Amino acid sequence: MTRLAPGAKYFIYTYGCQMNERDTEIMAGFLEEMGYEAAERPEAADLVLFNTCAIRETAEQHVFGEIGRLKAVKAERPEMVIGLCGCMAQEPETVEWIRRHAPHVNLVFGTHNIHELPDILARAADTDQLVVDVWKSAGEEVVENLPSRRLDGVKAWVNIIYGCDKYCTYCIVPYTRGRERSRRPEDILREIRALALQGYKEVTLLGQNVNAYGRDLGTGYDLADLLADVQKIDGIRWVRYLTSHPWQFTQKLIDAVAANDKVCEHFHLPVQSGNNRILRKMNRHYTREDYLDLVRRIREAVPEASITTDIIVGFPGETEEEFQDTLRLVEEVGFDNAFTFIYSPRPGTPAAVWNRRDPTSMEEKKERLLRLNELQYALQRKRNERLVGRRMEVLVEGPSKKNPARLSARTRTNRIVLLPHEEGLAGRFCEVEITRAHTWYLEGRRVGEPLPERRVPLAVHS
Ligand code: SF4
Repeated sequence: MTRLAPGAKYFIYTYGCQMNERDTEIMAGFLEEMGYEAAERPEAADLVLFNTCAIRETAEQHVFGEIGRLKAVKAERPEMVIGLCGCMAQEPETVEWIRRHAPHVNLVFGTHNIHELPDILARAADTDQLVVDVWKSAGEEVVENLPSRRLDGVKAWVNIIYGCDKYCTYCIVPYTRGRERSRRPEDILREIRALALQGYKEVTLLGQNVNAYGRDLGTGYDLADLLADVQKIDGIRWVRYLTSHPWQFTQKLIDAVAANDKVCEHFHLPVQSGNNRILRKMNRHYTREDYLDLVRRIREAVPEASITTDIIVGFPGETEEEFQDTLRLVEEVGFDNAFTFIYSPRPGTPAAVWNRRDPTSMEEKKERLLRLNELQYALQRKRNERLVGRRMEVLVEGPSKKNPARLSARTRTNRIVLLPHEEGLAGRFCEVEITRAHTWYLEGRRVGEPLPERRVPLAVHS
């Protein structure tokens, strides 16, 4: 394979969760340190990386489709380097598929060794064979001081914990991302202080299971303590954290969100099902009653809280009555948003085996999903309508993707607000009045002056 020279162009496809988006920023940091430059399109790149997600089959099919599409491009430009990384790389079936169907792919590397990217590229340059570098021990160490090309000048992702030990029976993550490994608080706080100095205003603390933070450190320091320490960092205005597990979401953590005004009042708590038998089969470690009690305690401590969730419809063996328990729970909680999915079997997980004997047809599952969405959208719209006339602080993110004539902003509770376009408002905090509510977004107008601007140049930095 050809060794890429400085000035070579790279393109990274990113699928899946924020952990993957953060990994892409780190890989882009490595590549720019090596002198490579970002390309606008994969066809124009010398190096194309697929940072993949294994949570759902549809995302995997998309990756295979895109890899197939690049075959013709590579036939015309044989020096092009194609690599696959992320969660799919950890699955043996993926490597097998590439060997059989995609000999134009040059390298595969796992989620635990993105810090070895320069070395993996160098090794691939010395051979015409597929280079596979997947860390089978599932990662024992946390590697610090990685370069990063952050993709947003205002908001930054900060990893605080890697992996997951929960082994939900439908999920592949514990097998692809390894056991829970927390970063040391001093490393996290140093990174956030540096981000504040560079002008970042919002940080999101990331983990597959963010409220498990600290349990493996054995010091008693946890996410609540970390939020209290991040609160003290000047320059950071908003703090978020993703994704939480309703199990082990402690009262101490709820109280920390209530006590620290930089911590946004948004709780993303994937419930997955409203039925206790299904929750047990999913190995979720809480009951519907536990979940409702958690919601009650959150709303008691943080009255403005928005609560969002993930729900799986058609888990193997789910009956119509059990699905109706989910509908009832959705109605009872009144979620501000819900990400709803039909169960997708992941090879190697217990639920994928049960799915082979599932008597419920895909048509029925689709019909359940429609009913769930219909209910959720109606409730969501009602919750948004209550906000018309209210004033709230937003961070203006930039032109709306769907309507560039308007600006898209986000509230502390993670709602999108569309505003009339104004020059120089992107990247700034301001107060808005909500003028109209829709299911997925609000409309508003700015009231008062925006907070002073602090510009951040996009750069490669540690
Ligand atoms: S908590 Fe469950 S669903 Fe979430 S990453 Fe871990 S195993 Fe997967």
